[in-house]
Amino acid sequence: MKILVLNAGSSSLKYQLFNMEDAKVLAKGLCERIGAGGTVTHKKTGAEPFFEEIDLPDHGVALGRVLNLLSSPEYGVIASVDEIDAVGHRVAHGGEKFKESSRITESVIAYLETIVPINPLHGPPAIAGMKACLSLMPNVPQVAVFDTSFYSEIEDFRYVYPIPYEFYENDQIRRYGFHGTSHRYVSHELARVLGKPIEELKIITCHLGNGSSITAVDGGKAIDTSMGFTPQEGIAMGTRSGSIDPTVVTYLMKTKGYTAQEVEDILNKKSGLLGISGLSNDCRNITEAANNGNARAELALKILTNGIKKHIGAYAAEMNGLDALVFTAGIGENQWNVRARVCEGMSFLGIEIDEEKNLNFERGVPFELTKEGAKVATWIIPTDEEYMIAIDTQRLASK
Ligand code: AMP
Repeated sequence: MKILVLNAGSSSLKYQLFNMEDAKVLAKGLCERIGAGGTVTHKKTGAEPFFEEIDLPDHGVALGRVLNLLSSPEYGVIASVDEIDAVGHRVAHGGEKFKESSRITESVIAYLETIVPINPLHGPPAIAGMKACLSLMPNVPQVAVFDTSFYSEIEDFRYVYPIPYEFYENDQIRRYGFHGTSHRYVSHELARVLGKPIEELKIITCHLGNGSSITAVDGGKAIDTSMGFTPQEGIAMGTRSGSIDPTVVTYLMKTKGYTAQEVEDILNKKSGLLGISGLSNDCRNITEAANNGNARAELALKILTNGIKKHIGAYAAEMNGLDALVFTAGIGENQWNVRARVCEGMSFLGIEIDEEKNLNFERGVPFELTKEGAKVATWIIPTDEEYMIAIDTQRLASK
């Protein structure tokens, strides 16, 4: 079975074509600047990347070009588009309705349109991607995999905010949680490498990238997570502030005359590692600057790693224990210094990592960091959201 996985952003479309028989990626690529010019970077596995500038007025045209490339004699990996058995769409937000991945129908799209107000950035491009597929490949099953659905079993006292209840009831303001596909993938992958049923494990998964979130997974179910109504809540990120006193927002508006949009831009695009350091949102640059004695880069690292620590402590308390800790995504998989700082002084919880292994870790594979004799198993598990989407798509398309 061949499955095309799509991830549509406001001006981009990422894709991967999987051969599910051997779980291999046949080709992948990225369309960018959709609606404002257009570029395509396409890579057939094992071949040199192909790049072109081409007019991409909308997601439909971009998808058309992707299908052309995938089936082209020169750059393609399939003889015809008919070889694509199903399409899986990454959808950031499934609202309260979608508790698991779903086959895409007109009524699914209609519901997603109703929740665009609470998902204004990611909703419209995802819907555009689905509509483009339905029109270009009307007979191919389409599946939506929601980042929020892993959190559908979180209990109300963990998702209702302590503000007037009517805002939850009438306006759908609540914790939804994001990155769910990644947390679901790495928690299952961890259980697999440990050779234990996930139902018996209490796991904390740290997805640390440009956007970061931490999730408590008890018995295979997410019971709490750091992101909330939007991906803005939680720990400090590349450019996002994470959680702050909400009064800072109104104080900035009142004293500096900022509009709501301006404050949102500050907290979303100018905060986090970038805002604290004044240097960069990239944790590699922050690490280098901190190593060279830059005090604000050092402060940024401390704020980041202390935030992670606090969530680990809180989630271990919520689960009444901890069996395993997982690091994933760009920072979690690559930055030994961040992992070392997070795990330092956590032996009371049973978290102790082997310094040598942490320093000389192997990239791209599940890698154990646990110090001999430590109670909690600590692992790096490379995330693979696209493959998780492909698995769900295969399951639902075969039904
Ligand atoms: P992500 O959003 O998952 O792509 O992660 C991006 C973050 O990971 C940035 O802060 C990078 O500095 C950090 N990072 C560190 N090392 C690497 C690496 N080798 N590849 C990609 N990202 C890295």
